[in-house]
Amino acid sequence: MKKTTQFTLIGLGLLISACGADPAGPAEAPAQEPTLPEATEMWTPVPNQIDPFQQNGAPSDAIILFDGSNLDQWISAVDSTAAKWAINADGSMTVVDLTGDIQTKENFGSVQLHVEWRSNPDNMASGQARSNSGVYLQNRYEVQVLDNNDNPTYVNGMVASLYKQSPPLVMASVPTGSWNAYDIIYHAPEFDELGEMVKGPIMTVLHNGVLVQDHFELSGTTEYIGWPKVSAHGPGPIKLQDHSDKSGVSYRNVWVRPLD
Ligand code: MG
Repeated sequence: MKKTTQFTLIGLGLLISACGADPAGPAEAPAQEPTLPEATEMWTPVPNQIDPFQQNGAPSDAIILFDGSNLDQWISAVDSTAAKWAINADGSMTVVDLTGDIQTKENFGSVQLHVEWRSNPDNMASGQARSNSGVYLQNRYEVQVLDNNDNPTYVNGMVASLYKQSPPLVMASVPTGSWNAYDIIYHAPEFDELGEMVKGPIMTVLHNGVLVQDHFELSGTTEYIGWPKVSAHGPGPIKLQDHSDKSGVSYRNVWVRPLD
């Protein structure tokens, strides 16, 4: 009986092998080099076709978070009431000092995020007080916004740093008062059933098209004082920072593409 079963399985294995499928799971690289070009072609799944510039420069499959017309996608991070930042005639919005951070109504996990920001040319404070703001992923992990033109500070707190964790590879800011762009590829952290972080949040950041954070894995939350903290969480809002020191930072053209 046992022998018969064994022979049956071997026969089945040979039959499946002959059909090109592997009963053990995903196909491994064949030992023998393919001799036909078709053998290494993939035809499915077919990627969706999108228009990369459909929505005022945003891809057709992006969620528009701010296009200059209203703050409908945002709420106050302080009390969940309407966002109180100012909308300007040029299609931007500006932090209204002491009104608090604003965050998206919608929660996100892994995303591609595009944000444009402008430092305040009238803000000539020094160090961390000059046009300080920030873009937070999942409400916890900050990509620093700061005017570092002729304004040094600690490098893991400078513009395009992952605050207190990773300095940028280069300083790629445009002159004070001009528009900067951040393109952020963010992969949400993963936690096991005990709440332990088995994979940290991973950030890749382009500052004005220049790679400044290269697939950096954060060790935990952004903290002003103390080490990064870890506690399990799910999707969270994207947040923009009111540093509460008359920063005068402005934002425009904010869009996101969920990657989950
Ligand atoms: Mg900041």
